Amino acid sequence: MTDTASTSAVQPKISFVSLGCPKALVDSERIVTQLKAEGYELTKTHAGADVVIVNTCGFLDSAKAESLDAIGKAMAENGKVIVTGCMGAEPGEIRDRFPNVFAITGPQAYESVVGAVHQVVPPAHDPFMDLVPPQGVKFTPRHYAYLKISEGCNNRCSFCIIPHLRGDLVSRPAAEVLREAEKLVKAGVKELLVISQDTSAYGVDLKYATSMWKEREVRARFLDLARELGDLGAWVRLHYVYPYPHVDEVIPLMAEGKVLPYLDIPFQHASPAVLKQMRRPGNQEKTAERIRKWREICPDLAIRSTFIVGFPGETDEDFDYLLQWLEEARLDRVGCFRYEPVSGAKANDLGLPAVPDEVKDARWHRFMQTQQVISERITRAKVGRRLQVIIDEAGPGLAKGRTKWDAPEIDGTVHVAARRPLRAGEIVSVKIDRADAYDLYGTAV
Ligand code: SF4
Repeated sequence: MTDTASTSAVQPKISFVSLGCPKALVDSERIVTQLKAEGYELTKTHAGADVVIVNTCGFLDSAKAESLDAIGKAMAENGKVIVTGCMGAEPGEIRDRFPNVFAITGPQAYESVVGAVHQVVPPAHDPFMDLVPPQGVKFTPRHYAYLKISEGCNNRCSFCIIPHLRGDLVSRPAAEVLREAEKLVKAGVKELLVISQDTSAYGVDLKYATSMWKEREVRARFLDLARELGDLGAWVRLHYVYPYPHVDEVIPLMAEGKVLPYLDIPFQHASPAVLKQMRRPGNQEKTAERIRKWREICPDLAIRSTFIVGFPGETDEDFDYLLQWLEEARLDRVGCFRYEPVSGAKANDLGLPAVPDEVKDARWHRFMQTQQVISERITRAKVGRRLQVIIDEAGPGLAKGRTKWDAPEIDGTVHVAARRPLRAGEIVSVKIDRADAYDLYGTAV
């Protein structure tokens, strides 16, 4: 043990900045859980910390700029900075701007981050200080938690650099995922949000190997995992699912109420020509037809998706095809991005003509208007129904929550009037009185 550690009566302090998607948030939680277990304390300001960790996102140029800003702020306010996450996979740009950054590690390099922290400020060893809750440290409210089932991705979508940053698919054994999920539920989590880069590809790399869970063997397979998670007694929400044929098998679980009737499928486009250039996984051609079949099995199924407009070579016909597809598919929730030529992405080398910014903008507006009419129609059809709502924020007389069709942060909110005070994490029955384009308003019954 070093002098610093043995003489230090106070816990060493870490300031942590977590940027990017839920997958990055899960990485942040793991790092912080490990550091808390070793006796480090989290502080809210950079100034009072022994070291600052910045978990970066490098997916889009705008995200990179935000990451560089966060590093700059940490350097100015503290000076001892460890950079990790997606941008850490390409340290050159960070070193050029901030040569005095203490250490740079890549995504999922938990041990390197913790090792770098030890170099700056060793842990104050005290076994009685290990007051880490059994579920680890979560940045999300206690009643919901992200559950990461794999890292990396075997696909090679031409606009994406994630496989380059995070490598090929590495799935966690089913029993390991289920143990974590069970711990979360025992600690009070009411909703598990399953995430990965490609959830429906879960287990491919393990050749669907079995592992022991509750004295029986469970395969590392999308359907098997979804079924087991559904038995834990919490809401289970599936994110980043691609429409591979075996996704059909999970729809009956939704109809039975084992997992939430919700699929987050990033379609990105509908035109076969654009999808081909995007090199998207899954056979997209008959997707609208399949969605119809899924709804026959599970009429309450909600589908959320994201799309990219202005991909290189996207013609007016491609875009019209997309709008028509959107009308037909009637997706519940949709996000739309204007294409950004991320440096290092294959799409930049395809020799396709770039779509001018003003055309991208015009398409984005048309897309959003079309979808808004669809979303509004779907939302308004819920008026008069009694729906189960999970409370996210409790307030006197008025609380905010979500239905089974709404994921936290990205989908709609239910504003709930109640006679008695509601608690966060409580699931209540709400009569829906009115709706606007995205949100619902109702009374707890
Ligand atoms: S599926 Fe495509 S977009 Fe998603 S992480 Fe993999 S390569 Fe990137």
